[in-house]
Amino acid sequence: MTDIHQLDQDTIQRIAAGEVVERPASAVKELVENSLDADASRVSVAVESGGKEGVRVRDDGIGMSREQLELAVEEHTTSKISDIGDLEAGVGTLGFRGEALSTIGAVSRLTIRSKPRGGSGAGGGSGAGTELRMEGGEVVDVAPAGCPEGTTVEVGDLFFNTPARKKFLKTDATEFDHVNTVVTQYALANPDVAVSLEHDDREVFATEGRGSLESTVLSVYGREVAEAMHRVDADPRAGAVHSVTGLVSHPETTRASRDYCSTFVNGRYVRASVLRDAILDAYGGQLAPDRFPFAVLFVEVPPESVDVNVHPRKMEVRFDDEAGVKAGVESAVEDALLDAGLVRSSAPRG
Ligand code: ADP
Ligand code: MG
Repeated sequence: MTDIHQLDQDTIQRIAAGEVVERPASAVKELVENSLDADASRVSVAVESGGKEGVRVRDDGIGMSREQLELAVEEHTTSKISDIGDLEAGVGTLGFRGEALSTIGAVSRLTIRSKPRGGSGAGGGSGAGTELRMEGGEVVDVAPAGCPEGTTVEVGDLFFNTPARKKFLKTDATEFDHVNTVVTQYALANPDVAVSLEHDDREVFATEGRGSLESTVLSVYGREVAEAMHRVDADPRAGAVHSVTGLVSHPETTRASRDYCSTFVNGRYVRASVLRDAILDAYGGQLAPDRFPFAVLFVEVPPESVDVNVHPRKMEVRFDDEAGVKAGVESAVEDALLDAGLVRSSAPRG
């Protein structure tokens, strides 16, 4: 009865993969983070059928040599940290676990083409890059290939070998919504990077990458929303928050989903209910029931006062002083709305 035995490597790998890659949007998130970590100034995402039929992320980042590419798809390989000390000291990159490429590769048919930036033909003639193909965790081919500098990753047949996971994917429209939300967050967080998104060969948005948050919001959300945005720019006195900057919308420019309240802590996209509550409370009852404003807020806090490593895949954070952070963000947003004459001051503040 109690036959306790060790799982085989293939089973272990697929279980682990299921935790990293829940749906097409999670693959998109990992690949876009890799592109941003690779110093890309342009990141193009294209998906088919909500990502179920295919995901492609192309960047003009630093690229990889053949040797680097072969290492990159192995389990727990990373160029971003060396040991736990690096992690404790704080990571400057979005990734560091070294598990995205190997796990995506374990549950899909993966093709990566890459060429190092500025390399004048090292390990191949000029114009040579490398193409690596992987199927269900096995590298099936590595060969020289002509490609531009940077990296293109194509994920096909996601979950072809984990049918249970595949069955739980939602409609194309729902899966695409998740992809759109992810790509939008990274576009907003990186106004200096030209980020584009295509679905079934139709352009959904494309940002200019010229550094302005306003023009990025215009590209992503359109003119009506962009014109209803007001600047937030505060250095709250409260010690919990260094600064709060960004844009929030007029209380009548809202949607029925919280997905349009984007919050970034120290440059990293996070979903923290305390930040959303702070934004909503700042509107002081001016929002219609179940309506949410647009917000793009960058909150800077002392690095040692926040744990971003709670669960990076789920984009959660933990603050030492949650109440202080909430107060700082709420007053910053409230000040912006007050300046724009959009809310009445509810209570005297000092
Ligand atoms: P992590 O991002 O946690 O390091 P990944 O599995 O996502 O782990 O990637 C493994 C390694 O492959 C990265 O550390 C990086 O060196 C390299 N890599 C992945 N994607 C890219 C890319 N788009 N451009 C350049 N290098 C990349
Ligand atoms: Mg990564």
